[in-house]
Formats: sequence, structure tokens, C-alpha cells
Amino acid sequence: MADILTSKKAMDLEYKYGAHNYHPLPIVLSKGEGAKVWDLECKEYFDFLSAYSAINQGHCHPKIIGAMTEQARTLTLTSRGFHNDALGLYEKYITELFGYDKVLPMNTGAEADETAIKLARRWAYDVKGVEHDMAKIIVCADNFHGRTISIISMSTDPESKANFGPYTPGFIVIPYNDLNALEVALEDPNVAAFLVEPIQGEAGVVVPDDGYLKKASNMCKDNNVLFIADEVQTGIARTGRMLACDYENVHPDILILGKALSGGAYPVSAVLADDEIMLTIKPGQHGSTFGGNPVAARVAIAALKVVEDEGLAENAEKLGKVFRERMASIDSDMIDIIRGKGLLNAVIIKPKDGKTAMDVCMKMAENGVLAKPTHEHIIRFAPPLVITEEQFAEAMDIIENTILSFG
Ligand SMILES: *Cc1c(COP(=O)(O)O)cnc(C)c1O
Repeated sequence: MADILTSKKAMDLEYKYGAHNYHPLPIVLSKGEGAKVWDLECKEYFDFLSAYSAINQGHCHPKIIGAMTEQARTLTLTSRGFHNDALGLYEKYITELFGYDKVLPMNTGAEADETAIKLARRWAYDVKGVEHDMAKIIVCADNFHGRTISIISMSTDPESKANFGPYTPGFIVIPYNDLNALEVALEDPNVAAFLVEPIQGEAGVVVPDDGYLKKASNMCKDNNVLFIADEVQTGIARTGRMLACDYENVHPDILILGKALSGGAYPVSAVLADDEIMLTIKPGQHGSTFGGNPVAARVAIAALKVVEDEGLAENAEKLGKVFRERMASIDSDMIDIIRGKGLLNAVIIKPKDGKTAMDVCMKMAENGVLAKPTHEHIIRFAPPLVITEEQFAEAMDIIENTILSFG
């Protein structure tokens, strides 16, 4: 008889044979549907992490999985050495949806950020006229754009950065939500672009002042600098609009999408821009074997359609308000700060009797809600946007009772 895989065994296997580059909660998931997941012992949970906002459309959405399996049975990969019959349809769909001339398809968020940086540099040399190898990109402190060498080179998080040098030059770091610092940085004529998250997700859901994005984008325009929005986490309805930039009617020069662009079914990322920027990269100068493959193309169309058809932005906006009001009503001195937009929220936990955010998350998991602490004292709450009002109320009861159980 074959050994039955228990959660304990599955975790031991990962620990023994996998690199130790993550510290997951000790829960082994084996099934997901909508807003819920189940572990190997069939215990049910609400997923309030949503794979860092990749699962906005819910686990295993039938329309997305349908598109994926149908395409997977027909044609999975051609490389860009040939055309395929799904890519053009997807490119038309996504560029019309977001209002750009062109899209450059990649796979992961980090790759899309790298692509945006390459585009900005190329644009600086070919269009703006910056001197060879002198282009600079302005980024914000506490940013998160992924894990490649160039991206960690612009990180200020010692955990991500330390002892991985030498680093890629050409970045200027300014404080987030600081227009004066941006104004000073923009005085450098070699600046190609300002790369920013509309809300800093990994930093702990840091929401900038109203008007910050609009003013920053106008300042970029005035200085002939590209405004690049990394909406890998904030995009695809997470914050209550299709894009977080939509709140301020900002149309970035370069838009970066990932995560929920596939509804969590497949690695799909995208960089969108108009011809003046996008056509600076010529055939053979950038690419990816899997970027723009037909499975990714069909999955992304399906995932975007689900967001529109099911009104996920509206649901995120509505339930986000419910979340923040409910959290504010809980009488516990462990709740320090509540912040967020739509269903991208965070609560800063004040430790009590030695109990920290991790203890709260472990207890919530026991009670049936999965969330993960970030930066030790912050808990991010970001359920799939398909969660129903009824499910949401049930999950909020669990969260409230758990916090109150710490006294
Ligand atoms: C997750 C994330 C990325 C990186 O995406 P990967 O697919 O993990 O490479 C980039 N930018 C932001 C804002 C993210 O949240």
C-alpha cells in the first residue's frame, strides 16, 4: 500500500529537498475553490492571502481553467519563433481594455518590471536623447518589484538585497509619497522614468495621499520623464478599480501587470505602452521563450473577462469598506492601524503579552482564515474578490473572535 501523504510528511519533504527561501505557515493546501482552500486533512479555510493577490478571480475559476485546459490540449508553446493563433487576439483585447497601442507579454511580475526598465532606458536613449549608458530610473524606498538582480539593486530591504551584490547601477531612491523629493530627483536631465507602486503592497499596504499619483504623473510629464506604474499587486480590480491608478485618472506611460492577470492559473505578466516607447525595442532585442504562449494568451483573456463579467472591482470596493469599518469597531488594543483600499488591506498589530502578528495568524488559521504576517507586525487581508457577502461576514466573525481571544 502506498504511503498516505500527511501534512507533516509534505512539509518534511519541502524542508529536506527544497531551498529554504520561504517561511510558510505550517499548512499544506491541496484544493481550492473560489474564496476557499482545503488542506491535506480536508480542513477548510477562507484564503485571505490570495497568493499575494494573484487569485483575485478565486481559486480554480471554471472559465479560466476551462480556457486553460482547452488550449493546453490543443497547443501549448510555439515560442515566438512562429506566430500562434491566440496571441494576436489577446494583444488586441488587453491593449483595447487598458488603452495602449501595444503590449509586451512576459511571464512573471519581475520579468515585466525588468522589461519596463529596459524600455525606459531604450526610450531615454532613442527618443529623449540621454547620453549612452547614463539613464536613471527613480524608485521609492520600501518598494517591491520582484527578486532579480536589477530589481533588488533598487530595493531598500536588507533581507532582499544584502550579500547579493554587485548591484545594477542607474537607480535613484526617494521616499514614497514625497512629491518634494520627486521634484528634486526630476531635476537630473538623465532621468528616464519614475517607477512606482500605486499602493506599496509588500511594504505592508502603504496607501499614499490622495492626489499623489496624479501630481507625480504630471510632474513626470512636465520633465519629459516616463511614469511607470507597477500594478502587479494593485491591478486587476484588487483595490476596487480595474487599476489603482484609475482612482486618480492616471494613465501611466508604462503599465506593468502580473499576478491576477491569469487569475493565479498560470504565470502571465504584461507591459503596456504606446508605440513611441514600445517600438524602441526591435526584433531580437528582448523576449522570453514562454512569453505570449497560447495558453497564457487564452488564460489572460478569460481572467480579464471574469473580472468584468462578475463585477469584481465593485465587490472589492464594497467589501473593502465593510472590512475597514468592522476592524475599526473591534475593541482590542492589539489593533493599532487599519489601512488599505478595496480588498487590499493591512492591520498593524501591537504585540500583547508577547503575542505577535504571527500568533494571531496561527490562531486565525486554526479557526479557519488564512492570512500571513509581513514585516513581523503587519497582517495583510486580501481575500479573492469573488468572495460573497455571506462568506465575508463569516470570515470577519472568525477574524474578530480570534483577535478578541487574545484578551
Ligand atoms: C509580486 C510583485 C512583483 C513580482 O512578481 P513575481 O511574479 O513574483 O515576479 C512585482 N511587483 C509587485 C508590485 C508585486 O507585488
